[in-house]
Amino acid sequence: MAVPLLDLKRQYAPLREEIRAVMDRVCDEQRFILGPEVEAFERESAEALGVGHAIGVGSGTDALLVALMALGVGPGDEVILPVFTFFATAGVVARLGARPVFVDVDPEDFCLRPAEVAGQITACTKAIVPVHLFGQAAAMDELAGVAGSVPLLEDCAQAWGCTHGDRMVGGVGRVGAFSFFPSKNLGGFGDGGLVTTDDPELAGLIRQLRMHGQSGVYEHAHVGGNFRLDALQAAVLRVKLRHVDSWVAGRRANAERYARLFAEAGLEQVVLPVAREGRGHTYNQYVVRVPRRDELRAFLAERGIGAAVYYPLPLHLQPCFAGLGYSEGDFPVAEQACREVLALPVFPELTAEEQEEVVAAIADFHGAA
Ligand SMILES: *Cc1c(COP(=O)(O)O)cnc(C)c1O
Repeated sequence: MAVPLLDLKRQYAPLREEIRAVMDRVCDEQRFILGPEVEAFERESAEALGVGHAIGVGSGTDALLVALMALGVGPGDEVILPVFTFFATAGVVARLGARPVFVDVDPEDFCLRPAEVAGQITACTKAIVPVHLFGQAAAMDELAGVAGSVPLLEDCAQAWGCTHGDRMVGGVGRVGAFSFFPSKNLGGFGDGGLVTTDDPELAGLIRQLRMHGQSGVYEHAHVGGNFRLDALQAAVLRVKLRHVDSWVAGRRANAERYARLFAEAGLEQVVLPVAREGRGHTYNQYVVRVPRRDELRAFLAERGIGAAVYYPLPLHLQPCFAGLGYSEGDFPVAEQACREVLALPVFPELTAEEQEEVVAAIADFHGAA
């Protein structure tokens, strides 16, 4: 039986009529840029996340970029971030002329290690970007402790619905950035993103920056950009927002089932993801660590089982960052993770039979070894 890594058609099928109706509504209105759909989505998502302000933007990358712009990041500044994350987290720093300062990650949860962050803070540090990687919240309390007055920008792209203590991520640091790329926990029908903050002044500035820094009619207090969320995306996301909690619950249930199945199979070679106490994992990806990862991935592909590597190359070894002066061996935890990680299917509509198939295939691989 083939098992896809992700099958969005299964999510769409039961929502089809509802989503087509709201898209029709936007088409009938012919208001495609910002407007009431975006405003309603911003209100509803701020409420869902328990945060004061939510600003819809064009992508998760734009959310990170505009948040850094609002924090005043520019040439000569340094921004601390994990070396093991999606490229965008670092790309936005470099685009603003600032220097990405990489830090190795925790070997168990793949998030920033507060003690190592502390050693990298200088007078030039303008922001710290914890990434809630794969849907696991970073150690925000400890990071806030070492950050002092340096603002924390949460990269929540993979972590919609993730809790940290009694709050949702995106409302823990100074500002949060979400992505609605279709494969994320809350995914649109194209690109989209959201910036969250409890700070009304920062929110106001981000709203201006999203519209070319416009402060009045054709008056520009700042140089911003076009970072707007489309009304069509907002309309689709409003429908999906009503279901995202049950999808997150489905991912968690699937993660629990994997834990049971792997334990039953006695597959000690497979290191399962850890969920930190008080920092609820949402399993945007279910990432295991395995020896002979590339061989296993090819073996699964032959059986039609989807699996993916997030990420094969750490940021300090990316060709575009060669000029930063890092070299192989600088971040051993991340480098080892890049050799061992493998994401297995975990989407909410995945069936128990499909999960059994995945685990049985991995058992076959190790049994045949
Ligand atoms: C997806 C992602 C982004 C970028 O989001 P886009 O919407 O694709 O621009 C940023 N950071 C992380 C960790 C991501 O996974």
